This record gives sequence, structure tokens and C-alpha cells, in this order.
Amino acid sequence: MLCDDCGKNPATIKFTQIVNDKKTVLHLCRKCAEKRGLKEAISNISFSLGDLFAGMTKKEPEKVEGKGVEILCPGCGHSFAEFEKTGKLGCGVCYETFSSQLKDLLRRIHGSNQHVGKSPPQLSLKMELKREVRKLRDNLRKAIESEEFERAAELRDMIKDLSKSS
Ligand SMILES: [Zn+2]
Ligand SMILES: [Zn+2]
Repeated sequence: MLCDDCGKNPATIKFTQIVNDKKTVLHLCRKCAEKRGLKEAISNISFSLGDLFAGMTKKEPEKVEGKGVEILCPGCGHSFAEFEKTGKLGCGVCYETFSSQLKDLLRRIHGSNQHVGKSPPQLSLKMELKREVRKLRDNLRKAIESEEFERAAELRDMIKDLSKSS
């Protein structure tokens, strides 16, 4: 699908405007959309879509004051709304076009695709070491109590090594 304005570039944005109950749908390339002053609406849309998928907002991004902007895949002309409806992507380019929306969607489905909230690896390593030393000390005490001095010496060395590296 070519841009309604210039007729040269492939349309990547579907712009819906409702004036006096009359619906106008324009298919525009990004350049022409920006020329029409839709730049802000375009940068807002992925944000609103992300919010929508995160379930954080109830407002419909397509119906802001009777205006709507949808990103269309340059490969097949599908919008992300169509994918939501059918669950099918139109072509391989869709993945690229809707990557941020798809990521949001996946994050929503799989929880989080990032490790958040865990202590940094170095910190947990230290804690691991401390726990290990505590365990060895326990074993050492038991070894001395049961007069296993060879084992005790071994354990003492291990504790020394571990304490050094922690
Ligand atoms: Zn154009
Ligand atoms: Zn496509």
C-alpha cells in the first residue's frame, strides 16, 4: 500500500480522523505523517500500546479526540491491532515493525524477560561464600569433637582459603 499523500513511499501509518461523525482514513508514510504534524501522535502510540498491554491504562490509544494513528507494517500493510485480533503476523517484516509492541506483549505473557530485583552477582557470591564458611566451621567443630584431627586440619585450611577470597 502506497502513501495517500505522496503516492511514492509505502504507507506505514494509518491515520484515522473523525470530524463531524465523518471518518477519514489515511494511509501515510512516516515522512508525510510527520509533515501533517502527526509526529507526536506517532511517538505516543507505542507508549500507549505498551501501557495497554501492561494493563495499566484503560483509555484506548486509537481514539484520542476522534483521531487515531496506527503503525502499519511496510511489508504487508497490517497494523498491530490486526495482529491482536487474529493473533497472526502478516509477514516477516512485522516482527521488526512491531518489535517493541511484541516485546511488551511477551513480557506480559512470560512475566519479565529481565532479571530484576535480584542482588547483584558479586554480592550473592559473597553471601554464598559466607554460608559455605559457616558450614565448614560447623564441620570443623564436629571434626574436633569427634577427634578427627586430620579432617579438622583440612577443614581449617579450606576455611582459611575461603575467608581469603571473600
Ligand atoms: Zn508519503
Ligand atoms: Zn508485515
